[in-house]
Amino acid sequence: MKLLRYGPAGAEKPAILDAEGQIRDISSLISDLGGDALSDASLDRIRQADISALPVVQPQRIGACIARPGKFICVGLNYADHAKETGKAPPEEPILFMKAASAVVGPNDDVEIPRGSQKTDWEVELGVVIGTRAKYVDEAQALNHVAGYCVVNDVSERAFQSERGGQWTKGKSHDTFGPTGPWLVTRDEVANPQNLALWLDVDGVRRQTGNTNTMIFGVAHLVSYISQFMTLEPGDIIATGTPPGVGMGIRPEPVFLKAGQVMTLGIEGLGEQRQTTVEARA
Ligand code: ZN
Repeated sequence: MKLLRYGPAGAEKPAILDAEGQIRDISSLISDLGGDALSDASLDRIRQADISALPVVQPQRIGACIARPGKFICVGLNYADHAKETGKAPPEEPILFMKAASAVVGPNDDVEIPRGSQKTDWEVELGVVIGTRAKYVDEAQALNHVAGYCVVNDVSERAFQSERGGQWTKGKSHDTFGPTGPWLVTRDEVANPQNLALWLDVDGVRRQTGNTNTMIFGVAHLVSYISQFMTLEPGDIIATGTPPGVGMGIRPEPVFLKAGQVMTLGIEGLGEQRQTTVEARA
């Protein structure tokens, strides 16, 4: 299933994309797409419903496909070819950092260039959405705790990330730095999360091309690994790292975003996003 949220920011309703590509409201089945509504039992209930009887809607806006994630966990340098372009050695264990959950926005919402930013950058990533609580899970069981997958743009301000002291969080957490969606594609429809093509364009110029088959640590390993340190809860999102082609990796000179540019990005089978960059608003 492809599940989504539509409507004005802060007042989204849950929906499903039907076989004809129409969006149908599922408010009669779940109150929102997040938390316990992502359990296998809840998703089965949606699966068994008569979708054709649900109201078709034609929304002006698609929201983030997950409501209020408790945690937005990111994995750094997780593609062998991206680690190489940053000049850093591939990590021996997954690098984890957090993005503020308040950074999450819809897939086609504007992305803000923070005040004083010189180095706002893009990162297309496979997002993994947790469906059931995971604590100390084995790699063999890990994918059973995943509700599904989505596209994430892990927007990053490189100077805030690496030149302002401390951890990466400052450079990853500005409002709008987490476009998520358009759909949550349930795990039964993603035969192999380790063989998905990813791409990102800026103003129509292809910048990132990759495939999840060059991840250093795969999804099952990451879910199991993270669950050794913290409990993964329903609705938590894991952004699993970015393939090569980020702005800071461009030679001879890095390229960064300014207001008025357009990012388009997508992942095979998971849909596409489109964001326009704007000056930050208070
Ligand atoms: Zn990232």
